[in-house]
Amino acid sequence: MSATLGTRNGLLEELIDRYPEIPPEAVLKEDLLRTGIAFDDAALTENLDGSVKPKSYFIFSFDQKPLAELGAAAEQRPPEEIALTGGPWQLRRTIVSVRVNPTSPYLVARVDGSLRLSVEGRDLAEVTLPPMPEYYRHTLANGKTVMETAPTIEWGYLIYLTVLRLCQYFGAHEECGFCDINHNWRQHKQAGRPYTGVKPVEDVLEALELIDRFDDASHAYTLTGGSVTSTVEGLAEADFYGRYAEAIEERFPGRWIGKVVAQALPKADAQRFKDYGISIYHPNYEVWDKRLFSLISPGKQRYVGREEWHRRILDAADVFGPANVIPNFVAGVELARPFGFESVDEAIASTVEGLDYFMSHGVTPRFTTWCPEPTTPLGRDNPDGAPLEYHVRLLGTYREALARNGLQPPPGYGEPGVGKAVFSVSSFMDVLA
Ligand code: SF4
Repeated sequence: MSATLGTRNGLLEELIDRYPEIPPEAVLKEDLLRTGIAFDDAALTENLDGSVKPKSYFIFSFDQKPLAELGAAAEQRPPEEIALTGGPWQLRRTIVSVRVNPTSPYLVARVDGSLRLSVEGRDLAEVTLPPMPEYYRHTLANGKTVMETAPTIEWGYLIYLTVLRLCQYFGAHEECGFCDINHNWRQHKQAGRPYTGVKPVEDVLEALELIDRFDDASHAYTLTGGSVTSTVEGLAEADFYGRYAEAIEERFPGRWIGKVVAQALPKADAQRFKDYGISIYHPNYEVWDKRLFSLISPGKQRYVGREEWHRRILDAADVFGPANVIPNFVAGVELARPFGFESVDEAIASTVEGLDYFMSHGVTPRFTTWCPEPTTPLGRDNPDGAPLEYHVRLLGTYREALARNGLQPPPGYGEPGVGKAVFSVSSFMDVLA
């Protein structure tokens, strides 16, 4: 097989050659996540009526085009995730979250009866779609679907409970520059899709009953949504998210690992999360560099401030134990124009500084691969995302930082390793041993 210079296929070949320590599975997965995938009509689902699990839009759009420009994929949802195997690199099973981009060089299409992934016409892998889970075939007593109320991702491992579909950081001076949570809420509402702003606790419990009855693949749930700067239904952030955990743990004690993604709150609030039954806390710091943090996450800077955010992350380690505090950053925004670093070297150096800062305290960050959603400021200015080389190098750098600090892969993500990992929005778990 020959790499043609200047093509996407050529870029893949080049990076796979230059970074032999990173498995080809991870190189391809990162490129699919940063670029998105086009779907042939025959590779779309029949929404909730078919045998394939549809994309639930569990929090952000994670698409590279607005819903109105997705063509057939707006009517017939794409699958939630795809599993790739075989092809020229003999890929071991690799789970990739679906980000739709009708103009992507990557295409999933039916060829001679089976689904294949190709890039610019070159066949890359066999594609397996996630089966429709039995619990998606049932509805709540009020007619709501389990897919909307308690979708599962990571090939069924994680129940994703976005119980607040909006963020109270609002507008250009507060919303994170990469985040389309508020826009995504608006576009789903405009399209007439069911999309609940605040999920009633009873709905969540009823959906979990169905999952519990029909499924044994789920191992964790994540409670999340936007930041709460005032109150929701009279509750401040720790009590708002905490009430769901409390109800879940009361009804299903210890059935799943409970996680929450929230602001970095004062230690007393972190303790409240713990008391409500949460065992893993994700106070996401988004980007390490001081200047970039204030520009990219202005709401976090305004309401909490970077140094205080970091201090609270470390304080939370006293509450949960350092291994159970897992702040996320959005890999790639370090390089986003107009504010980002000029070179991959500088971006990697900055990110590693942040990794070592947290890891030296026993706290293990993790990352998702930036999806340049077009309605966000950073996505609009950087439709191609960050260079693939950054994403590939970051995987090796992350693995080295973990080893250097004597830490294990973070808990709550299933098994690590190529062919085994299920974490679908970055390949950090795929490259760990
Ligand atoms: S805190 Fe930032 S990333 Fe999180 S929902 Fe709000 S705007 Fe989005």
